[in-house]
Amino acid sequence: MSFEENLKKYAKLLIRKGANVQEGEEVNLSIAVEHCEFAHLLVEECYAAGASRVVTNYYDDYSAHAFLEFGSADEHAKPGPTLAATDEWIGEKRPCRISITGGDPNAFADIDPSVFAVTSKAASPLVANARELTSTNKLSWLVASAADAGWAKAVFPDLTSEEGVAALWDLIFKITRVDLPDPIAAWDEHIATLKRRREYMNEQQFDRVHYWNEEGSDFVIGLPKNQSWASPGSITPGGRINLHNIPSEEIFCAPDRTRMDGVVVSTKPLVENGTVIENLRFTFADGVVTDVTADTGVEIVRELIATDEGSAHLGEFALVPHSTPISQSGVLFYMTLFDENASNHLALGSAYAHNVVGGTEMTPDERLAVGINTSAIHVDFMVGSATTNIDGIAADGSVTPLFRNGEWV
Ligand code: ZN
Ligand code: ZN
Repeated sequence: MSFEENLKKYAKLLIRKGANVQEGEEVNLSIAVEHCEFAHLLVEECYAAGASRVVTNYYDDYSAHAFLEFGSADEHAKPGPTLAATDEWIGEKRPCRISITGGDPNAFADIDPSVFAVTSKAASPLVANARELTSTNKLSWLVASAADAGWAKAVFPDLTSEEGVAALWDLIFKITRVDLPDPIAAWDEHIATLKRRREYMNEQQFDRVHYWNEEGSDFVIGLPKNQSWASPGSITPGGRINLHNIPSEEIFCAPDRTRMDGVVVSTKPLVENGTVIENLRFTFADGVVTDVTADTGVEIVRELIATDEGSAHLGEFALVPHSTPISQSGVLFYMTLFDENASNHLALGSAYAHNVVGGTEMTPDERLAVGINTSAIHVDFMVGSATTNIDGIAADGSVTPLFRNGEWV
């Protein structure tokens, strides 16, 4: 397969299987200027699938960085001029939202974290429709990635820019199963495996799990009553299957926001606000972060936790065996979409409403009352490893081994 052929197969997988764009639907594509050639393939595939209108929002890390660096504090505190109109359109038309990530993971490392806090606070009310409709799956959405020189330099620091980008694309094609003769059939099989695990967890309805490993994690996390585990393809906005992430290797649930106790040690660096955060370590009591340390970037995490009431609680608990294609590659991607799918992970902040039965029909306050967290942030961090053990604990105290040495029992 030539690079061009694989890229076309990848575009087709994202639009037809991932976002599952429908006849007559509007699409909002968010993608970096570096990826404009790939954007053109995606746009073509959207129209081929019957999209009525594709609105492409090109973003540019350089311009965004310049604003944060040179813009005044007054301007940082104002939302961007097009945000309100975009959010109104999303509220009205519920377009399929496709976001392509990439770029240098350290692009914003020199920006003071408090500046991010100010700009995201300013934007928060003007992305309310997008946030609520996405978290309750009232529209179709997809996050996937494209290779570029900035990202490749972080993953393959010893290669030239050109070699690095080529190597990163090869890995993306392999991990997303695009290098197989029929990627869509391969995804159907993969989805079926994850569905079996999801159904098992939903049948068991564990009250809590005990999680421990040699890296130093040892915690007990509560699961809500009527918990509803999700896996790729289990969410069906308007009755159609939509994968939210490509790649995706996880099944996940919302924890009970009030029941998390113990120590969590991250097993991979976290990239947040363009900064690499290494060796993150949290202590939790009664569901709340009581202490956090890290070797680098701890200030970013402290700002995040202080965003709002829900940002110091957890919103996601995801199970990923250590033997996924991403783990096997042995590559650290410095990108959550890839690194989280190589590893069990937790997320600080908002939970997905569908993780409790009937949740998408509840108000945020009703969700809080049943233990489902809400926040303006959702930040995943990786906690899985080859030494991880997990036990499911039922309400009567009986214990079922779920993971041993990083794999499903
Ligand atoms: Zn996840
Ligand atoms: Zn997440």
